[in-house]
Amino acid sequence: MPATALQTAFRERSTRHTARQKQALAGGIAAQIGHTPLVRLTQVTHDLPDTVAVYGKAEHLNPGGSVKDRAALGMIRAGLASGALREGKTLIDATSGNTGIAYAMLCAALDIPVTLALPANASPERKRMLQAYGAELLFTDPMEGTDGAQVRVKEIVAASPDRYFYPDQYNNDANWQAHYHGTAVEILEQTGGALTHFVAGLGTTGTFVGVSRRLKDENPNIQCLSFQPDSPLHGLEGMKHLPTARVPGIYDASLADAERHCSTEAAIAMAQRLAREEGLFVGKSAGASVATALDVARELEKGVVVTVLCDSGGRYLSESFWDQEGLD
Ligand code: PMP
Repeated sequence: MPATALQTAFRERSTRHTARQKQALAGGIAAQIGHTPLVRLTQVTHDLPDTVAVYGKAEHLNPGGSVKDRAALGMIRAGLASGALREGKTLIDATSGNTGIAYAMLCAALDIPVTLALPANASPERKRMLQAYGAELLFTDPMEGTDGAQVRVKEIVAASPDRYFYPDQYNNDANWQAHYHGTAVEILEQTGGALTHFVAGLGTTGTFVGVSRRLKDENPNIQCLSFQPDSPLHGLEGMKHLPTARVPGIYDASLADAERHCSTEAAIAMAQRLAREEGLFVGKSAGASVATALDVARELEKGVVVTVLCDSGGRYLSESFWDQEGLD
């Protein structure tokens, strides 16, 4: 049966759309995600012996400014490959901000409409950035954190399932797989087999789960340590206090050789020191990561400790701690 004019037009549009997305994935901003530098910390480590080195994986240098570029790209690629994300669908998800910025950046480049639910207390910089990329925003109760944003998204998707592509980063294997196939391989290459310890905080848990799973597959002797904020009411955007939060489906506690905690104060003090002493302008969870990595490093006589500089300090410019005298 010959195709109607409408069918032909639709097919042409679909093909053009796919070609543009393919081009954007292969050559546009998406192709610049990952392959971040591994930076040795040389100043905040002054009390450590020469035999112990601490490195930060500079994820804030991803084009969207955070580690979440990798997960967002992985989930969008998986959605396009499976057909779950196709012409006419809007991408929707709950996000504390960084995944949303990554989705918004990629969806702009790929011409995909995007709706994001986030707690109303997310930083003004994040909200402005999302709007700059053209995303539609839904603000949820700050007291409910990202859990409240997830509930809101689930309600919307349940009401019109055909309208949306809902990656659900807390339960999407493509989230941790982006780190299994990307971040972990880069860290192994960049440390040339010398890596002894990996330290990462838990949000969706994708970074910790993906990197640790790969490191353990390659060398079970590498110690993988997770950390969480030390209290339910913390100021570490993007991180979860698991005992009082909804535990992400992708989380695998068995990967952790030890679990640590970090206070918001220690995280902020370290973020300030990283800017002033190392010239690394990174956010609070990066501060928490380095503070925890240093705690681990201080217990060692010899070792190579790697942690993650999760996002850029530019996300927190409106916060007052940058102006304060040395906090530590
Ligand atoms: N730090 C920040 C600032 C984040 O936004 C996130 C993501 N929620 C994380 C750390 C934790 O990363 P993950 O989701 O991979 O656990």
